[in-house]
Amino acid sequence: MVPRLLPSLEGGRRAAAEDAGSSGRPAVRDGSAAATATDEEAGFQVGPEFERFSQRDDVFCRSFWDPSVRSHRSDMFYETYRTPKMKWRSADGFNRRDYALRNASWHVTDVFAELHEGADRREGFLDPYTAVREGPGGRAPVESPEEMARQLKRAAKTLGADLVGVTGYDERWVYTHNYAREQEEEKPQELSGDLKNVIVVAQSMDRDLLRTAPSALSGAATGAGYSRDTIVLLSIAQFVTNLGYRAVATMNDSALAIPFAVKAGLGEYGRHGLLITPQFGPRVRLGKIFTDLPLAHDQPLRFGVEETCDICRACTDACPAKAIDGGRPSTVVHNRSNIQGVKKWTTDAEKCFRFWSNLNTDCAICVRVCPYNRDYARWRHRAWQWLAGTPLRRLALWLDRVQGRGKRMAPGRWWEAGGDVA
Ligand code: SF4
Ligand code: SF4
Repeated sequence: MVPRLLPSLEGGRRAAAEDAGSSGRPAVRDGSAAATATDEEAGFQVGPEFERFSQRDDVFCRSFWDPSVRSHRSDMFYETYRTPKMKWRSADGFNRRDYALRNASWHVTDVFAELHEGADRREGFLDPYTAVREGPGGRAPVESPEEMARQLKRAAKTLGADLVGVTGYDERWVYTHNYAREQEEEKPQELSGDLKNVIVVAQSMDRDLLRTAPSALSGAATGAGYSRDTIVLLSIAQFVTNLGYRAVATMNDSALAIPFAVKAGLGEYGRHGLLITPQFGPRVRLGKIFTDLPLAHDQPLRFGVEETCDICRACTDACPAKAIDGGRPSTVVHNRSNIQGVKKWTTDAEKCFRFWSNLNTDCAICVRVCPYNRDYARWRHRAWQWLAGTPLRRLALWLDRVQGRGKRMAPGRWWEAGGDVA
């Protein structure tokens, strides 16, 4: 089945519901921006021991070839996405209707993933998408990279993107190799490095569904996020192709998404190893399109997440697998599913995946309990984010705790509700 978490890593100031169609900041860089300067702005600390990552070491790929990760439970975990059964577990949130919805949510992204399985490709997860038609030939004139970036973001929003940012190609975050599932071995990376701009998109995930995590029902938020991501990525790639430029749409394949997303100004990296955006907190799925379309780049965004994570341990405390460190960012790695030589918070993907396997679905407790997981269409949550971006962030975290906002909702209640669950 499909790798769906980020490979263990993966990869303020303004509450943003009003501009959830772009990263919301002026595009100020062109393709010649120096990577080192942007590293500093993005808060990246890459040491001399840095080594690029091969997708073969992603824990989802390892769950096929590595006996230390693969188990009867992990095979069953994947099987639940394929085989309709009456009941996988008896608990609320794990019955037939929950799995029926979860698996339906994956349907679109699965169809595209399986299009070229005969060629040992899983597009969107292990290989770039190829379902883009040829363009008409000739290149559309570009007035300026800044204007093109503005138009691209407008088009992307129309095509369904929730957030869009642009940054430059950076080989460090590109996988050394792709992974061939059938052959169970590495295969060549398809990105050649000549597509110098990267369009990063984020799709929001359903907040109410995620409130039921852990459950098969909450997995529908993940699947629906991926299915929407697939449609949006292919549509944007087709738009760029129609303009006469090259575009390679990628989702979990080909490169780590989070470093590109941070540099493209979509959000900050959190202790739980996920991107935290001002618009949706950690409730996003990411995708990226590599292109030679001239585009101005966005600036990395800081809105206080790093400082909040420094003093918050909500995800660490809630993780049943003890996969999220409570310490300071470091270069310590847990196993080969962690990238080497980057100073950051690093989660233990093996522990996380083992928990998923035992649960028979993906987990997302760390997303549910994260204080940034809020509905920013509401002013009080925008006010909370503002507070968390100030030296009063301990007060913000205290408020979060006493309000009990991250508590689990019974999956049965989700089915009974008529709309948003208050
Ligand atoms: S809370 Fe769940 S999804 Fe998050 S790291 Fe722990 S086991 Fe993994
Ligand atoms: S739960 Fe707290 S520590 Fe974990 S990512 Fe969210 S804000 Fe950071």
